[in-house]
Amino acid sequence: MEGNKYLPRPFLKQTPSTFTVITTYRCNAACKECCFESNPTIKGRLTLKQIKQNIKEAYDTYADLKLVVFTGGECFLLRNDLFEAIKYASDLGLMTRCVTNGFWGKNPQAARLIVKQLVWAGLTEVNFSSGVDHQLWVPFERVITASEASVEAGIQTLITIEQDTKESKCYEEALQHPVIRNLQESILFSIQSNQWMPFHSDFKARNNTDVEKPFLKQGCDQLFRNSVVTPHNMLSACCGLTLEHIPEVKLGDLDKMSMSEMYRSQFDDFLKIWIHVDGPYKIIEKLMGKGYLEKKYGQINHNCQACVYLHKDKELIHKLENEYQNYVSDVISNLHLKESVTKASLLMKEV
Ligand code: SF4
Ligand code: SF4
Repeated sequence: MEGNKYLPRPFLKQTPSTFTVITTYRCNAACKECCFESNPTIKGRLTLKQIKQNIKEAYDTYADLKLVVFTGGECFLLRNDLFEAIKYASDLGLMTRCVTNGFWGKNPQAARLIVKQLVWAGLTEVNFSSGVDHQLWVPFERVITASEASVEAGIQTLITIEQDTKESKCYEEALQHPVIRNLQESILFSIQSNQWMPFHSDFKARNNTDVEKPFLKQGCDQLFRNSVVTPHNMLSACCGLTLEHIPEVKLGDLDKMSMSEMYRSQFDDFLKIWIHVDGPYKIIEKLMGKGYLEKKYGQINHNCQACVYLHKDKELIHKLENEYQNYVSDVISNLHLKESVTKASLLMKEV
C-alpha cells in the first residue's frame, strides 16, 4: 500500500475498488422511469476541473481503486470533456468505463469518430443501456451501430436491456438480431437483461419470472466498495437507483470536506454496515416479518426500492431505532466473514 493512501478501519480490509462519476443528470432522453428524472432541460454538470480533481483525490485516498465509471444522465453530452476525463484516469493507470444510451451511434461513420476518441483516451469498457423505455428516445439500431464500432476498436462492450413489460420483447428481439448474434462471437461483447424498479405510481408492470427474487436477500456491495460523486459535487455512499431519494447516502460536499473524512464517517453509521452485510430487504424481514413491504406497498423488484422504505417508513424506523442493538454482534461477525470471503476471492483472481 502506498504511503499517502487511506487506511481503512480494522474491520474493513478493502477500500473502494470503483469510483463513479455521475457527470450530469442532463440527458438527451427523458425515460419515464429514469431513476434521476433526467431529461434534456437539466443544465447542471461537473466541470472538467472538478472531475479531474475528484479522480485524483479518489486515487490518492483509496488504496484498492481500480476502475473509474463515467455515467449520468448521459455522459457523452460532455463531449470532449468526457474524453479528457477518461484520458486523465487512464494516465493514472486506472481502468475506465462509460455508461451511455448510445445516442451517438447515428451511423457507422459517426460512431467510429466517437470511438476513435475513446481509444485515444484509453477507455477500457462501454456499457449501453436500452430497453422498452429507452427505445422511445434512442432507436436500438443506434446502440447496435455504436456497439459494433466499439467492439471493432477492441473495447469491452456490454448492452443492458431493461426488464421487459408483458407486451414488449426488447431483450428477445435483441438476441435474435443478426448483428448482435454476430457480435456475440466476440469475447469483447456481452448482453444482459437487468432488474427494474418503478419510480412513479402509474408504472407499467414488468415481467418478473424470478418469483423467489434471490437478489433481494443479498447484502449491498455498493456500500464501501464504490465511492460516488454526484453532479452537485457531493460524495455519495452508493450509486443506487434511489440515491437521490435517500438523503442518508449523501456523505457531504467535496468542496468543504475531504473524501477520506467522508468515507470514514460511514463506519459510524451502523445501518450502512448492516445494509452492506444483509441488504435492506432482509433487514426489513428481520425487523417486521415476511411480507411487510408487499402488504403495505405492493411488489418489491429491487433492493434499492426496499432501501427507500427502510429510510422512510416511520413504523419501520421506530422498530429499527428500538431494536438495532439486538443485531449488532451478529452483523459485525458476518461483516468479518464477508470481508474474509471477499479477500479470498480477490486473491484467487490474482493467482
Ligand atoms: S437514457 Fe438513462 S439517464 Fe437518460 S433518461 Fe433514460 S434512463 Fe435516464
Ligand atoms: S441498496 Fe441502498 S445503499 Fe445499496 S445501492 Fe441501493 S440505495 Fe444504495
